Amino acid sequence: MFKLSKKLQELPPYLFLEIDKAKRKARSQGRDIIDIGIGDPDQPTPKNIIDKLYQAAQDPATHKYALDQGMPVLRKAISDWYKQRFNLELNTDNEILPLIGSKEGIAHFPLAFLNPGDYSLVPDPCYPPYKGGTILAGGKPYLMPLLEANNFLPDLGKIPAGILKKAKILFINYPNNPTGRCAEKSFYQDVVRFAQKKRLIVVSDLAYSEMSYDGYRPPSFLEVEGAREVGIEFHSLSKTYNMTGWRVGWACGNPQLVAALAKVKSNIDSGIFSAIQIAAVEALTGPQDYVDKMRQLYQGRRDCLVNGLRSLGWQVEPPKATFYVWFRIPKKIDSIKFAGMLLEKADIVATPGVGFGKYGEGYIRMALTVSEDRIKEAIERLRKVF
Ligand SMILES: *Cc1c(COP(=O)(O)O)cnc(C)c1O
Repeated sequence: MFKLSKKLQELPPYLFLEIDKAKRKARSQGRDIIDIGIGDPDQPTPKNIIDKLYQAAQDPATHKYALDQGMPVLRKAISDWYKQRFNLELNTDNEILPLIGSKEGIAHFPLAFLNPGDYSLVPDPCYPPYKGGTILAGGKPYLMPLLEANNFLPDLGKIPAGILKKAKILFINYPNNPTGRCAEKSFYQDVVRFAQKKRLIVVSDLAYSEMSYDGYRPPSFLEVEGAREVGIEFHSLSKTYNMTGWRVGWACGNPQLVAALAKVKSNIDSGIFSAIQIAAVEALTGPQDYVDKMRQLYQGRRDCLVNGLRSLGWQVEPPKATFYVWFRIPKKIDSIKFAGMLLEKADIVATPGVGFGKYGEGYIRMALTVSEDRIKEAIERLRKVF
């Protein structure tokens, strides 16, 4: 038989595949499953973006290999969007790199900076590619627990000096998947100071910058003074414009960091389909009213789910951003057992916290990706079981 590489063997098991299997089995038995497990928007991509793709795909000029650096028109659209959203000027020549989805860039980034034995500082629980990308690059993840007592922010002061000596990259992600918690500029200021002192590269994942509620607007890490000297930020069109399947996002920030990622990628891919880049320009520069509608839709669902869970006597905080409701399991069982129980007894798929790392144990994540009617149905089913 074939022997997997050490790196591949080291990767944490992908729990979500197991959940998916159980879900499909339940569906094949004809059960009416409410799936609030996966963070994938249920709404379609806005029509003007689809039309643009259709139109651009008719042009043979889009059928060739795309430029590795992304089309100038897309880098310009990203720069304008950043200016308008965060009042930051990004140089389109060397501070922006379009990506085949931000996950791709996040997972490849450690290849540019880690040597065997080097560490990445990774929040736990977290979005899996921070760990996976680190391991595939030959590095080691050092887990920074995200604890409720510290508002789900990492406690930088607790990282051992011996680890810090060998650490190169610090990952942060706010608004956060899976906890739904947010960070303010004061946290980012601490991160910049820490990174300067310890000579760390900061990777900020801002995939949820536009998915926020009650008028709250999440800041960008790059807004903080000094951030551009130490950091790079990853963005995605996936959640903002319901484009998860399209695979387009970008990295921006420090030119050296951007160039290093571009160099890795030039050895791996050959750019993003040009028609998708043109459609991404339409997304960023076209009408934005549906982004507001998206926020209203999720806000309504959030209130429906949080109020429903509270009516069961469960303690749940409404997230200010992201489409995740993350809360402590109201029973003394582990998160995989609890998720299994939700599926078996209530035909509900939710994600066990431990799937995002060991410090996620004891929690469950529900995604606001079904209608309010379905959320109400889910609550009624839970009321019968618990
Ligand atoms: C969904 C998500 C992304 C987006 O990934 P894409 O590859 O751009 O679709 C990035 N980071 C986090 C934390 C996410 O949850």
